[in-house]
Amino acid sequence: MSSNPSRRQFLQAGMALPAAGLVSPNSLESVLQEPPKAKEPPKVVYRTLGKTDLKPSGVGYGIGYVPYTDVVARSLDMGINYFDTARDYKDSERIFSGVIKGRQRDKIIIATKSPSYKKEQILKDLDTSLKELGTDYVDVWHLHARDTPASIPDGALEAMRIAKQSGKARYLGFSCHKPYAMVDFIINTKVFDVMQMTYSYPIGGRLRNDAVDKLREAGIGVIAMKVVVAVSGLNLADFAGKPKATGEGPLAGIKWVLTNPGIGTTVPHMRTIEELEMNFRAMSEPYTAKDEQLLFVLNEQIRPDYCRMCYECEGKCPKGVPVAEVLRFLAYHDFCGNYHQAAMSFKGLAKEIRDVRCSDCSSCVIQCPNGVHVQERLIRAQELLA
Ligand code: SF4
Ligand code: SF4
Repeated sequence: MSSNPSRRQFLQAGMALPAAGLVSPNSLESVLQEPPKAKEPPKVVYRTLGKTDLKPSGVGYGIGYVPYTDVVARSLDMGINYFDTARDYKDSERIFSGVIKGRQRDKIIIATKSPSYKKEQILKDLDTSLKELGTDYVDVWHLHARDTPASIPDGALEAMRIAKQSGKARYLGFSCHKPYAMVDFIINTKVFDVMQMTYSYPIGGRLRNDAVDKLREAGIGVIAMKVVVAVSGLNLADFAGKPKATGEGPLAGIKWVLTNPGIGTTVPHMRTIEELEMNFRAMSEPYTAKDEQLLFVLNEQIRPDYCRMCYECEGKCPKGVPVAEVLRFLAYHDFCGNYHQAAMSFKGLAKEIRDVRCSDCSSCVIQCPNGVHVQERLIRAQELLA
C-alpha cells in the first residue's frame, strides 16, 4: 500500500518550494519572520496504534534518562497519555512512577523496554520495571534496540509471549533503527503488536515510508522516535558558526511525522514547559508549506553533521566501523546534549572497533549519498567518546 496520496502530493509541493527560490539553506531568518496568525487553542488528538485498543495522544513523551517531573506532570494534565521509558535509563522508571502516583492508571499508557536477550533475564527485567514503575502491568513491553532478526532469539520471543500471557504486559514490541530490515520478521513471527522506529523529517525516506505502510496494512502499530532530534537546533551553534535554531523546528518536525497516518504516536523528550506547549500544538495544527520550508532549511544546515540512518554505507569500512551506529551515538551528544548516553552507547562496541582511529586513514572509503562528512564526524566521535 502506498502512502496517503494527499500527503505525498503535499510533500512534493512543499519540496518544490526551495527550488523555486522561496527559501535557501541560509535563509532561516526569512522563514521565521512572519508572525503567527491567531489560531484555535491547541488540543490533544488521540490516534490508533495498530490493532491494539490503545488510543495514544499523537504527541507522547520520551521520558529518557532524566525525567523532568514538572514537565511530565503538566503533560498529563494537558491530556498527553503515552509515556516511553526503558530499563536502561537508570532511575527513569522510578522517578516517573513518582509523577503518576495517585493518578488514574488506566488513563496512562506506559511503555518500557528490556535490554536483555535471554528469556530469564527479560522476564526479570519486566518484574524490575513493574516494581520501579509501581504498577502491576505495563501497556507496551519492548525489547530495546533490535535491528536484526538474530537480535531476537527464540528465548526472547518466548519471554515476550509469557509476559503477555501473565498479564504483566498488555502489548509487545521492539524498538529499532532499521525498520525495513525488521518488517517481514515482525509480521511473520506474529508475536509483536507494535514497532518503535526512528522516523523524522531527515530520516524518513522511501524505505521507512514503505515499512510504515506495510506495518499499517498488517495492523502493527508504529511509534515514531527521534522525531525532533535533528531539527531541534540544539548545539547547531557549535557547528561552524551556523545560526542557532529558534525552537520552531520540533513543532514542524512532529507535524511532519503526524501527517503519516501509519504513525500511532511520537515520543519526543521534553525538558521545559515551553517545549511541551509547543510540541503539543503539533496534534491540532496543520502541516504547512512554511513548516516544510523551515524543515528544509534545518535539514540543509545539519546535512554534513547528521547521519540519516539510510545504512547505505553498512559493511563498507574495511576496519569494520559501524558508521551509522557511531554517528548515532555522536548525535546523542551533539544533537541531544546527552554525553552519558553517547559514551555508554560507544562503550558497548567491541574493543577492536572502539580502538579504530579514523584519523589514521588518509581518506575514507565511504562517500555518503546524504552529504554527511563521515570521516570528520567519526574522528570527532572517537575523540569525544573513546
Ligand atoms: S553516513 Fe550517510 S550513508 Fe551512512 S548511514 Fe549515515 S546517511 Fe547513510
Ligand atoms: S575513515 Fe577509515 S576507518 Fe574510518 S570509516 Fe572511513 S574507511 Fe573506516
